[in-house]
Amino acid sequence: MRYDLEARSFHDKIRLLLFKAMGVKRRNTEQHRADNLSYRRKWREDHPHGCHIHGCIQPLLRGKFCEKHTIMRRSRKVEVLTHYGKNKCLQCCWDGCTVIDLDMLSIDHVNNDGAEDRRKGRVGTSLYNYLLSHDYPEGFQTLCFNHQMKKEITRKREESV
Ligand SMILES: [Zn+2]
Ligand SMILES: [Zn+2]
Repeated sequence: MRYDLEARSFHDKIRLLLFKAMGVKRRNTEQHRADNLSYRRKWREDHPHGCHIHGCIQPLLRGKFCEKHTIMRRSRKVEVLTHYGKNKCLQCCWDGCTVIDLDMLSIDHVNNDGAEDRRKGRVGTSLYNYLLSHDYPEGFQTLCFNHQMKKEITRKREESV
């Protein structure tokens, strides 16, 4: 549980209040992280063929996750990409682009400030989780991979002029 983190979202605040009421003390963050990591590693060793979500012992559907968690991860992705899509639809935000294929869409940092998120490990599903749990912060948009590429090429070209 993440009661050692600072309360950022509404849910975090509620959780912190709850823990306070229950008399749960804050733990040393570094120690807590290390314990957590070794516990997770041990779990993975004990359940090598199970779903990759910690604590889940369901068989794999395909890839790394069970059926329930495959659907959950997919629906989270749909929700986030829809929120940041053109007119709040599951679509690339690039002017005139009509790509709506979920497999071809991803989140783009509007101001190209994604380095920090990447450093903090916020890529793929953990970025979707972050955006969901922080009530959709500003500065993101849905783009197809072609237009992610196009944006990057244009930026580099403008930089070199
Ligand atoms: Zn699972
Ligand atoms: Zn596009």
